Amino acid sequence: MYNQIEALPREKLRELQDKQLRQMISYVYERVPFYQEMLNTSSIQPGDLHSVEDLPKLPFTRKQDLKDHYPFGMLAVPREQAIRVHASSGTTGKATVVCYTRNDIDIFSEVMARSFVAAGARPGMLLHNAYGYGLFTGGLGTHYGAEMLGMTVVPVSGGMTQRQITLILDFKPEVICCTPSYAQTLGEEFKKLGVSPDEISLKYALLGAEPWTETIRADVDATLGIRSTNLYGLSEILGPGISQECIEARAGSHIWEDHFYPEVVDPTSGEPLADGKEGVLIFTHLTREAMPLLRYWTGDITYLTHEPCICGRTHVRMGPIRGRSDDMLIIRGVNLYPTQVEEVLMGISGVVPHYQIVVKREGTLDETELKVEVAEHIFRELAQEVLSEDVVEADTQMHSLRNRIQHEIKGTLGLNMQITLAAPGTIPRSEGGKLRRVVDLRKL
Ligand code: ADP
Ligand code: ZN
Repeated sequence: MYNQIEALPREKLRELQDKQLRQMISYVYERVPFYQEMLNTSSIQPGDLHSVEDLPKLPFTRKQDLKDHYPFGMLAVPREQAIRVHASSGTTGKATVVCYTRNDIDIFSEVMARSFVAAGARPGMLLHNAYGYGLFTGGLGTHYGAEMLGMTVVPVSGGMTQRQITLILDFKPEVICCTPSYAQTLGEEFKKLGVSPDEISLKYALLGAEPWTETIRADVDATLGIRSTNLYGLSEILGPGISQECIEARAGSHIWEDHFYPEVVDPTSGEPLADGKEGVLIFTHLTREAMPLLRYWTGDITYLTHEPCICGRTHVRMGPIRGRSDDMLIIRGVNLYPTQVEEVLMGISGVVPHYQIVVKREGTLDETELKVEVAEHIFRELAQEVLSEDVVEADTQMHSLRNRIQHEIKGTLGLNMQITLAAPGTIPRSEGGKLRRVVDLRKL
């Protein structure tokens, strides 16, 4: 572990959180007009909140509140005391701006250093950092954390895949940071070049910034010869390093709870949910100086578990993110996250985890097309059959593969999808950042 606090007994952790929360409440009450008004209008005295258990008394803070105070209206310190500004990548509309004091940046780096150690990295290892540098928190956030740990950082940023390949082959990094979809892109490029996984120096990967499932994990672990773990964060709360999966268990990500207090609530009623129940993830800052938020509604869907972990860390774990509430598709009344489709594909041999979901409206009905790539060896077989003029056999084989996928999707998700088998390499790939796997033509 990087910091002994990661294994603090839970009663001690709770005592610490309660103390920090009380300080935080009076801090924002004195400094942030938005929170002063919130507390006044909900007739809560700062002194009414003794413990993190009292948090459900407070309303949520939402992305819209940050937009209403764009750019610096939520600051608890004079802007001059912030040493850095970041913004969300703007996946869902106008960017939201966040600021950090020097102390905030130190905490950012420290929780990232913890995350690196949890993922298997050690001082002295070389990091190939392919998260985007710039306004996006990914690049700089991981960069400072790796430096604090004592790694050698190569700040490659996203994109220019051929250069990334060359740098990995020449510098021989042990650790990589990037989005899971970009790890897939890199894995494929190596394969094309005939570089086998055991010739790639990489051992550990901290993948995040977009939802992914065990299907993609299996793919990137195999093609890059790594053990990948999940790194989670969002700019409003910090950036990467809010939670990280430990390499020992690879079963949920430890939330660095001494800084970010999590809750999971029902998406409709906002009521707190028990361990294991999926809902919206909420965070309350316990130590943030520049721009602390109380009960921030992330929109990300997951669950919490307080089950002890084999790694010895006591901090609560969150499940993988199923998606954001705004990524949820409603198709003929059925709720669907793209990751659910991804999970179904895991069980089907003959296809690879490169897919796209296209939803359109035909008359009054939603129609869904699932495009998925066939595995290369199957594709070669098919091509061979067509070449040897055995078109009927090829057709039967494709037909049965399509039926199998359709049947599995229907059985698991209750949806009828039109299945299109695509040739290897034809579905859009990540070119460095987050990948959108859904095309919703109903919204155009
Ligand atoms: P934007 O909201 O514009 O994408 P951010 O860069 O702040 O900007 O992105 C944070 C969001 O990215 C999170 O709220 C979440 O939806 C997604 N995300 C980050 N890390 C992960 C992860 N490990 N797994 C799934 N989703 C993630
Ligand atoms: Zn663990």
